[in-house]
Amino acid sequence: MYNTESHRASLRARRDIVKSEIFSALGRINDDRHAALADQVHDTKDHAIAQLLLESDNAELRRAALDLQDIDAALQRVSAGSYGRCLACGTDIPATRLGAYPTAKRCLPCQQEHEKNR
Ligand SMILES: [Zn+2]
Repeated sequence: MYNTESHRASLRARRDIVKSEIFSALGRINDDRHAALADQVHDTKDHAIAQLLLESDNAELRRAALDLQDIDAALQRVSAGSYGRCLACGTDIPATRLGAYPTAKRCLPCQQEHEKNR
């Protein structure tokens, strides 16, 4: 059984890191379009930020947006009590894998199968 609160805390900490990366990337890009985007991001609730950034033409921002979505999805699984369970086969994902990769949706064999079929 997993410690829900510690997972929630580490996922939130990770989300803060990704968000600060987003703000520093937005500051670095610093053209008119992204300046407007930076204003929007500041005024937007967490869950909507990823949607905004996915429309950017900047690869770094889009990757960060996907990270945010993964983290939010993982937090939802924590709330739903399904965090740490493989979406494909339903077994518990090993703690070492979750430690290295807290947003993991699948156990390693299922993930490898998933990537092979993509
Ligand atoms: Zn699995």
